[in-house]
Amino acid sequence: MPPPLHLYDNFTRTLRRFEPLDAGGQVGLYTCGPTVYDYQHIGNFRTFLFEDVLKRVLEWNGYRVRHVMNITDVGHLTSDADTGEDKMEKGSRRTGRTAWEIARMYTDAFLDDVRRLNLEPATILCRATDHIAEQIEFVADLERKGFAYRTSDGIYFDTSRQPDYGRLARLDVCGLDAGRRVDLGEKRHATDFALWKFSPPGEQRQMEWESPWGKGFPGWHIECSAMAQKYLGDFFDIHCGGEDHIPVHHTNEIAQTEARCGTRLANFWLHGYFLLSNDARMAKSAGEFLRVQSLIDRGYDPLAYRYLCLTAHYRGQMNFTWDALDAAATALDRMRHGVRALREAAAAAAPDPALLERFTAEINDDLNLPRALAVAWEALRGDLPPAVRGATLLAFDRVFGLGLAAWEPAVEVVPAAVDALAVARAAARAAKNWGEADRLRGELLAAGWEMEDGAGSYALKRR
Ligand code: AMP
Ligand code: ZN
Repeated sequence: MPPPLHLYDNFTRTLRRFEPLDAGGQVGLYTCGPTVYDYQHIGNFRTFLFEDVLKRVLEWNGYRVRHVMNITDVGHLTSDADTGEDKMEKGSRRTGRTAWEIARMYTDAFLDDVRRLNLEPATILCRATDHIAEQIEFVADLERKGFAYRTSDGIYFDTSRQPDYGRLARLDVCGLDAGRRVDLGEKRHATDFALWKFSPPGEQRQMEWESPWGKGFPGWHIECSAMAQKYLGDFFDIHCGGEDHIPVHHTNEIAQTEARCGTRLANFWLHGYFLLSNDARMAKSAGEFLRVQSLIDRGYDPLAYRYLCLTAHYRGQMNFTWDALDAAATALDRMRHGVRALREAAAAAAPDPALLERFTAEINDDLNLPRALAVAWEALRGDLPPAVRGATLLAFDRVFGLGLAAWEPAVEVVPAAVDALAVARAAARAAKNWGEADRLRGELLAAGWEMEDGAGSYALKRR
């Protein structure tokens, strides 16, 4: 029997055995989704890929996963200190489209990339703007319970009411308050945060709603507390996001839910660590960033990026380089060809039990995908019967998600102009006109094609 699933829980800072709260084996999973004011970059997708693998590992262990992901389409401000403007309104100015239009456009783009990276779709994908009533009700309840106060620009959460505020991030709240040199404005404590923001007086926002406190919009954190409760209940199994969410966003989600429901939302808190580019965090706000489309434009299969992410453990940062992506693309290509050659035979065979056990031991050890990949390579190159090797790899791919069961090599279409050059060169060779044949070979090379001469025939290959 392989060891049971263990996951590293950032709340307790321990590796804990995972057991679902529901005896029926359904797992509640909430993952913070994209803020749709711009395209998602491949850093964001590193986190979404880790969450996808987590889901697949849960399924591998026989659980059914109810996965809820939110779409942040309002209220995420450019500064975590509740100042700055709404990212959606900023995106609207940048693109010349309405906030509603860009929300739709970037949500669609996100979902395209989800498909390209072979991410299993969420069971429930929910927009913040579709859940304004739930958020208002949540804030009203916090107010009734005495956790909220009013300033001239909004309703704020009073973090001093919770002795364990900041536990997830191990925040030194006293130190933060004491060491605070910048003006708090009307906020009572440095860690207090907005639950509801008022529309600025005399200004009409594109996204605003009536509320018991006046016209305005929800603070960013409240959407996740409200939607998680609606779809997963007061206490569910696992909550995920990127490491940047630990000190502010997730800390504040926990504060709100603890104040309203008396729970810390989720039994496990897991975080994906950053993708770096030139040793700095890849961030949308930093301007230049790589999208899945940028990889396609450079001739990469998006699944090569998926493979690359499998080679690094989710709990460490990963530096993106083109060399690393090249290596991943090559490895993926070899794995695809290797499995394809075994596929037909595999249909009639079962996976090797010893390899399955070793694989399960690796993925159940806090999703050790780099080691699980090593087991896969060993299986592929090993000396078991081909049918068994094929069946084993196809089983592993339920977790890898590399689409090995259906992959076919792309059929190379030779452009007509290249074909014409090749025909002319073959004719020159037949006429022993070597100078002309060499000249035409040069032209083919310049067009990116290589001609391999056989006896009475030739083949064209991309360089
Ligand atoms: P956002 O669209 O900014 O709300 O982010 C979507 C997800 O990507 C969140 O879970 C973030 O924590 C995560 N994220 C943001 N930047 C990175 C990065 N450079 N590497 C990995 N994950 C990231
Ligand atoms: Zn969230």
